[in-house]
This record gives sequence, structure tokens and C-alpha cells, in this order.
Amino acid sequence: MSKYEITYKCGHKKTIELFGKMSERENKIKWLEQQDCNDCKRLAGKNQKGKDLVGLPDLTGSDKQIDFALQIRLKFVKDIRELELNMPDNAKNSVEAWLSSKTESNWWINNRCNNAKELLVINYAEIRG
Ligand SMILES: [Zn+2]
Repeated sequence: MSKYEITYKCGHKKTIELFGKMSERENKIKWLEQQDCNDCKRLAGKNQKGKDLVGLPDLTGSDKQIDFALQIRLKFVKDIRELELNMPDNAKNSVEAWLSSKTESNWWINNRCNNAKELLVINYAEIRG
């Protein structure tokens, strides 16, 4: 049994223990170095889930924040897309571009108490500057 420091593809380093034959350990290390670490894999998986549902970019923040923010965003986006049905195309496109620009989990968490209409008011205010 030995400990090895692995540098994953994502750049994170982790110390792991490996057992067994030397050649098998070396193969395992090589394979691991071509993978993202488990934390990054999990995060990517979560963001993937959110993206499939709403077609918006990945969120940034801690694991916990992203989890929470994706739920909030999902709820808002469903409501906003219903409101979009009554909007002219240019307004709809600008709302979608604005939604895509909100990639910080914190923004969604801070706005979670608003409803979809209130969010659109914030959108208009930001666009007008
Ligand atoms: Zn990583």
C-alpha cells in the first residue's frame, strides 16, 4: 500500500492510496490523470442537469450554492417563459440574453423571494441602465 499524489486533468491535486502490482498502480495513475477529480465531475453533472432543463449556461459558486440556485432558476425560468409567450420577439430575445448573463449562483439566491414579474422589472431597469 502506498500513497500517491495525483494531478487531475482539472488541475486539482489529491493524495490517494493504491494497492496491488506496481504496473497496475501506474496504469491507474495514468488513467486518473486524464480524468477530472470527483468534485469537478459532480459539479459538472449538476450543472448538466440544470442546463438540460432550461438551456442556460452553467452557474458559478460553491457546490451548495449551485444546487440551490439551479432550483430557483428552474422555477423562475418556467414562469418567465410563460410570460414570454405574450412578448414580441425582440423583447423575448433580450430577456433570454439577460437570463443567460446571470451565471452567479448568488444572484439567483438573492432574488429568490421575487416572482417572475418582479424579475422582469429588474431586467428592464438593468437594460435602461
Ligand atoms: Zn477538480
